[in-house]
Amino acid sequence: MGKLTGFIEYVRETNPMRPEMERVKDWNEVYVLREEKTCETQGARCMDCGVPFCHRGELMEGGASGCPINNLIPEWNDLIYRGRWREALDRLHHTNNFPEFTGRVCPAPCEAGCVLSINEPAVTIHDNERAIIDKGFEMGWVVAEPPENRTDKTVAVIGSGPAGLACAAQLNQAGHNVTVYERDDRIGGLLMYGIPNMKLDKDVVQRRVDLLEAEGIVFKAGVEVGTDISAQELQKQFDAVVLATGSTKPRDLPVEGRDLKGVHFAMEFLHANTKSLLDSELADGNYISAKDKKVVVIGGGDTGTDCVGTALRHGCEKVTQLEIMPKPDADRNRVSNPWPQWPANLKVDYGQAEAIALQGKDPRNFMVMTKKFEGDEDGNLVAMHTVQIAWKQDENGRMQMEEVPGSAKRVEADIVLLAMGFLGPEDVLGEQFGLERDGSSNYKAEHEVYTTSVDNVFACGDARRGQSLIVWAINEGRGAARQVDLHLMGDTVLP
Ligand SMILES: Cc1cc2nc3c(=O)[nH]c(=O)nc-3n(C[C@H](O)[C@H](O)[C@H](O)COP(=O)(O)OP(=O)(O)OC[C@H]3O[C@@H](n4cnc5c(N)ncnc54)[C@H](O)[C@@H]3O)c2cc1C
Ligand code: SF4
Repeated sequence: MGKLTGFIEYVRETNPMRPEMERVKDWNEVYVLREEKTCETQGARCMDCGVPFCHRGELMEGGASGCPINNLIPEWNDLIYRGRWREALDRLHHTNNFPEFTGRVCPAPCEAGCVLSINEPAVTIHDNERAIIDKGFEMGWVVAEPPENRTDKTVAVIGSGPAGLACAAQLNQAGHNVTVYERDDRIGGLLMYGIPNMKLDKDVVQRRVDLLEAEGIVFKAGVEVGTDISAQELQKQFDAVVLATGSTKPRDLPVEGRDLKGVHFAMEFLHANTKSLLDSELADGNYISAKDKKVVVIGGGDTGTDCVGTALRHGCEKVTQLEIMPKPDADRNRVSNPWPQWPANLKVDYGQAEAIALQGKDPRNFMVMTKKFEGDEDGNLVAMHTVQIAWKQDENGRMQMEEVPGSAKRVEADIVLLAMGFLGPEDVLGEQFGLERDGSSNYKAEHEVYTTSVDNVFACGDARRGQSLIVWAINEGRGAARQVDLHLMGDTVLP
């Protein structure tokens, strides 16, 4: 597989990013594709190792090691090295319904598990995946493939994020009649209205939705289940219902001044921005503009980074990002965090790189806690008050935080964006269906089983596992489809 000496001959070459100063002026994707020849030599770096970890998808220390959908990575690396792109595409679609999404925004736990990465930079698995699917679309190889036979079974999928779409795609291939309900005006869940354009172009999302529609899936956008149609109504109309409603309850920061004008949840900012961009290129003004504003983002994850990138594109005066956790080390600790675990070292994502280019320094401040927000007499946010904290181990070995005396600070701010994670699905559907919830308030269902406490009702994706990744949503959507098929037919051919 690959070229026997490829990993010795070729160095790792990833898709280049457009220069920061150029890309912050538009909403186009930050990455550009490598030359086809480079992709082929990068495929040649795959070593044909005896026990490939890249495609295992094991949970280790809370993070995935290897690909959660078990992509057949060594096989397609070899095929692209040999220029057999069409076969590589077939192998890729065998395990992944949406490689154009994961090939753009998956954090690539496969590369963390790549055997080559023990002592050399990993194979560029993520970029190879994108190269295969982009070539597939370019060559016209990716076309709608409706099932040859239909069953008389009907399934409603609630939620059109990657979990709902993967589930619908698989059930449709099995011949069932699938209707996807989505409360937003566009299909795609966080692919459409969470992850911003510069990471995932919305034409790329719509292109896949159009294919799924052409394959026979019925999409009902702008319909909120629980309000526009009741849970009971759906149960009556369909043989099975799949809940793929995401983890949409944001964690709040209930400190003094939370109600001031200018303090928003991150998703209010990101959702409105993408909608306005798609509706009118921001001409309608229906978004929270950060232009000339001092912006503070609270939370250091993907959502926070997307807020930083979006605020910079609006032309903010300054953006700062606050994180309560300690700053990770620059390099992974090979003893406490060894290969093939996900490396917990400091990463500089696209948004931080842009802030460094524009503002001269990393926007992140670590171990900072917000005490209160300060407003003017009209109720507008003007500043926030913070303290530095220290993390100390208590006598039971648990980490506890302590305020650092004398570290109180007043930080001027016009907009604060709360990006501190999500607390499970909203309550309405859980109550209407009468579902049991788990300790984290997610719909209670086992991974790889997906049955809830209510007959004929299944749950998958972030609504079941909590806030996660697109690749896990695809894993869960495919798994739930298999279980629904088994439940409806007594047998299943779905992988
Ligand atoms: C800002 C942001 C950036 C992210 N970036 C990345 C990234 O770079 N890479 C990565 O792998 N992951 C990323 N993630 C995580 C990833 O997007 C999610 O894990 C994934 O989308 C979960 O898929 P899902 O299908 O379970 O839910 P979602 O994508 O959340 O979709 C759920 C859908 O259900 C709909 N819905 C909810 N209730 C109802 C109802 N009652 N009736 C009808 N419809 C309903 C919602 O409107 C939504 O469209 C990011 C998340 C956020 C918030
Ligand atoms: S889906 Fe993610 S983990 Fe799997 S091969 Fe692609 S980039 Fe790697």
